Amino acid sequence: MSEAVLDVRRLQVAYAGNRALDLAALAVAPGEVVGVVGANGAGKSTLVNAIAGWSRGAPRVTGEITLAGTRVDAWATHQRVRAGLVLVPEARVAFGSMSVDENLCAAFAALAEPGRRVYARDEVYALFPRLKERRNHLGSQLSGGERQMLGIGRALMMGPRVLLLDEPSIGLAPKMVSQVLETLRSLAGTGLAILLVEQNVRAAIEVVDRLLLLERGRKVLEGPAREVGEDPRIAEAYLGAT
Ligand code: ATP
Repeated sequence: MSEAVLDVRRLQVAYAGNRALDLAALAVAPGEVVGVVGANGAGKSTLVNAIAGWSRGAPRVTGEITLAGTRVDAWATHQRVRAGLVLVPEARVAFGSMSVDENLCAAFAALAEPGRRVYARDEVYALFPRLKERRNHLGSQLSGGERQMLGIGRALMMGPRVLLLDEPSIGLAPKMVSQVLETLRSLAGTGLAILLVEQNVRAAIEVVDRLLLLERGRKVLEGPAREVGEDPRIAEAYLGAT
């Protein structure tokens, strides 16, 4: 495997003294899609938020986060974005009062360090023709799937090296789920590294290279997607959550 572009070690996160995450190691290589699954409350959102530097709930975060050889764990969120560590927010966070066109504002490109692959709005439209059809609609008028596409499009305009996604399939029609996940797969084909939190294990297995199961903040399984997907502990995690 090529060298990791995202390398996480001894990442611990606590909210008000309660440990939510204790992850020994996680690495994602360029072109690789890694999926994180687990029951509700297992720490999946906590993981991607900590990597992105999002501090909702004022967590205490310790550990090493290295992006393309540079430690970024002491950096503010916007500095990490500039360096190419970009979190696609949950779909409902699309700017509702702005049109699709305005949401895909060219100003995002200015956030990226020079020399990186930054998507232009038309390239986002080429990737998601549905968004082009809806270009004059407000964010609030979009379906869940369209919002997810918009979030991914905005992230691509920021010149990511690593894309972090928190449950991109949530609330999406099944056809839309496969479309969004397949687009992510094809983006990985361009060398992007993708870390994907996903409740929909079956759909995730189709597109991820490696799957990681979190249980109470710890990694209990990691391996090739199909192998891990067959492990009874995956089913248990989800049955236990219902
Ligand atoms: P879900 O699928 O339900 O979103 P998850 O695997 O993403 O679950 P997290 O949201 O990361 O899990 O939560 C992990 C633990 O951290 C839980 O015990 C949760 O209650 C706690 N937690 C998460 N966010 C906060 C917060 N802002 N303040 C306090 N505790 C939090």
